[in-house]
This record gives sequence, C-alpha cells and structure tokens, in this order.
Amino acid sequence: MMLQAESLKKGFQQGGQEILAVNDVSFSVNKGETVAIVGPSGSGKTTLLSLLAGLENSDSGQVTIDGKVITGLGEAELTRYRGEKIGIVFQQFHLMPHLTALENVSLPLDIAGEDQVRDKALKALKNVGLENRATHLPSQLSGGECQRVAIARATVIQPAVLFADEPSGNLDTETGGRVTDILFELVKTTQMTMILVTHDMELAGKCDRILSIRGGLLQNSN
Ligand code: ADP
Ligand code: MG
Repeated sequence: MMLQAESLKKGFQQGGQEILAVNDVSFSVNKGETVAIVGPSGSGKTTLLSLLAGLENSDSGQVTIDGKVITGLGEAELTRYRGEKIGIVFQQFHLMPHLTALENVSLPLDIAGEDQVRDKALKALKNVGLENRATHLPSQLSGGECQRVAIARATVIQPAVLFADEPSGNLDTETGGRVTDILFELVKTTQMTMILVTHDMELAGKCDRILSIRGGLLQNSN
C-alpha cells in the first residue's frame, strides 16, 4: 500500500459556523495505482488533497505514505519529506516567475541535495516535450507549456505519490487534453502512484479508480 488516509477531518469557520470540508474520510491507494477524486466545486477536494500531501494539518485522523505516518511531523521534517517523496501539480502552475523552465525543474533536486541536477532536470523537461524551452521564463511560455514544466518539476524527484489538483482546470479544452495526455503517459511509463482531483469525469475516467466526495463525505470508499 502506498497511501492510507484514516478518519481525516478538517473544519473551517464560516460566518460563525463550522463547516466540515473533509468529514471522516478513509481510503487507501496501492502502489502504482491512479485514483481520481471527483466532486462538485466546494465538495472538499482541494482540502482533502492538502491533507494527503501534508500541506495542511487535519483536525484529526492520520495519513500514511509509503509506510511513514506523516501526521504530526514537525514543519521542518514535513517540508523535507514533501521535497523528497511528494510531487504536486496545481491548477495555477505555481512556477517561480524569475526562474527559467530548467531552473524551476532543478529546484526540487537542488533542495533534496541530489547530484547531476542539470541532466535530471533536462530529462524531465524532455519527458514533457519541452527540452527546447529550457531557458524560457514562465512569462515566455504558454499556459499549457507552464503546466508541462510544473509536471516535470513535480515528477523529477520520482515521488512516491504524485498529487494533481485540476491540472487542466486553467487551460482551454484542447490544451488541457494534451497536457493531461502527457501526464498520464508519464505516470504510466514510470508506474507512478497518482491521486488526481478533478470535476471532469472524462479525465477521471482515465484513472484506475474513481472516488466521489460530496459535502466532505466520501461516497464510495474502500
Ligand atoms: P473543492 O476543491 O472541492 O472546490 P475545497 O476543498 O476548496 O473544495 O473547499 C471545501 C469547503 O471548505 C468549501 O465550503 C470551502 O469554502 C471551505 N474552505 C476551504 N478552504 C477554506 C479556508 N481556508 N477557510 C475557510 N473555508 C475554507
Ligand atoms: Mg478545489
């Protein structure tokens, strides 16, 4: 098993009321499996992904990734763990604007203290078809190219789990389709474990398994 979520809960105060964005969610994901989490806007997808990826603390419950309980780790240890084991692709790309494509992809390798950074980063760019964009800044790239750089950055460390939150949500349909094709091809050839959050059922259908979330509740966990 690669990821296990146990009884995860996360609430937010909204207008003096507590809403449970994630309400007692449990499920597990096998190594090499791809799982889509689908649900309408506001159903808790991004919050759940943030808990699973260790970006936010849950109110209760536990997350285990690749045999390690990440819940309760201190900030420094969690940051290091994320840097070495977790890849995240966001809807809004979140590239460093002052760094080139190659430098953006090199960053996780630099932080993890890996060797042959340039070669590895170039290979990751090549995997997303952008070896000829290495010295471009994000502002010199199209949206689709920016997301491909973000995919290269998220996968360059060969993460235990790749998380993607609406990876085509900020792109037009055709570009989004191309980018997610590249993503799925990469995930397949490297047998990566992926959790993909989306409201796009067609995209979700490319995953091995679909979980639905509504009002913070998982509808069909296993
Ligand atoms: P989704 O990604 O499915 O659209 P979210 O996880 O972003 O849903 O949000 C789930 C619920 O939690 C929504 O009602 C949202 O308004 C609320 N929420 C999310 N983040 C916060 C926050 N930081 N503060 C207050 N409420 C939040
Ligand atoms: Mg969201």
